[in-house]
Amino acid sequence: MDQTLKQRRRAPAILLEGVQVTLPSRAGPVTILRGIDLEIPAGDAVAVVGPSGSGKSTLLMVIAGLERATGGRITVVGADLGALDEDALAKLRAANIGIVFQSFHLVPTMTAIENVALPLEFLDDADAFNKAREALAEVGLAHRETHFPGQLSGGEQQRVAIARALSTSPSLILADEPTGNLDLATGEQVMDLLFTLKERTAATLLLITHDRNLAKRCDRIVNVADGRIVTPSAKRRAPVS
Ligand code: ADP
Ligand code: MG
Repeated sequence: MDQTLKQRRRAPAILLEGVQVTLPSRAGPVTILRGIDLEIPAGDAVAVVGPSGSGKSTLLMVIAGLERATGGRITVVGADLGALDEDALAKLRAANIGIVFQSFHLVPTMTAIENVALPLEFLDDADAFNKAREALAEVGLAHRETHFPGQLSGGEQQRVAIARALSTSPSLILADEPTGNLDLATGEQVMDLLFTLKERTAATLLLITHDRNLAKRCDRIVNVADGRIVTPSAKRRAPVS
């Protein structure tokens, strides 16, 4: 553990070098990421914007170790993902990464508190339920502990998902259009919450969003188009469809 902490201090939170993803399909191989170079210092908030289909979600998935790069090198919290097997990737993810998806991805048959406790239980945390209770209270949902996802509003479900993602105090938060299924006001509340928790834990945040105002709240905006990082024209805003 000491060694992991030392590596975390030395290394950037995320380092991508020439990352490519090519997947087989019926029509032949499809190249989704075409050589991505990206370095994100620990503690930074980076927004990823770009048209639909440009590869943003795939980028997040390879950083999370949920998909394999087919070329290049990905270093996350000091670990070379290509050198890890699936078990080691799952452990690295559980200990270091919190992920928030557009469609919440809660387990429908589990209550709010059971959902939040899941990653803590995966880490064999003996105090999983107490920590889950605290995390739910932090997102303002102490009164919803025993509700199932289907009994909660979209905004409440996303707050449960944020509590689940952050209950393990990850050093890296990955969010894929977390406000995409929420109305404007609810989306703003959810993002205020996410930024507040990010600041308090000093975590690194990678945020995919179509919302330019949201992107502007980050330290830096990365534009993705057709599987590459592009520099938008100085005069015109890049389309973020
Ligand atoms: P974004 O999040 O920017 O909308 P994605 O990363 O989801 O983009 O997808 C990028 C491109 O890769 C899209 O054209 C999509 O259709 C394609 N794609 C995504 N996943 C797969 C897959 N498993 N097999 C083949 N093509 C895929
Ligand atoms: Mg996407």
